[in-house]
Amino acid sequence: MAKRCVYCSKEIDTESVVDVCESCGEGVWGEKMFGAIKENMEGARKKGDLHQGSVTEGMPF
Ligand SMILES: [Zn+2]
Repeated sequence: MAKRCVYCSKEIDTESVVDVCESCGEGVWGEKMFGAIKENMEGARKKGDLHQGSVTEGMPF
């Protein structure tokens, strides 16, 4: 199912970590801040994925 921007309802990438399109994100937070937000969200998601993967392999503690 396609994701939609919460501001303009434009379709956005389902892989997108934020629920806004590029132009709204930059309009709301500014280009620099929006970039930082996306980086943070992507980092958090990667950590989540890693954690999920490690569960099946068994944690050492
Ligand atoms: Zn938008």
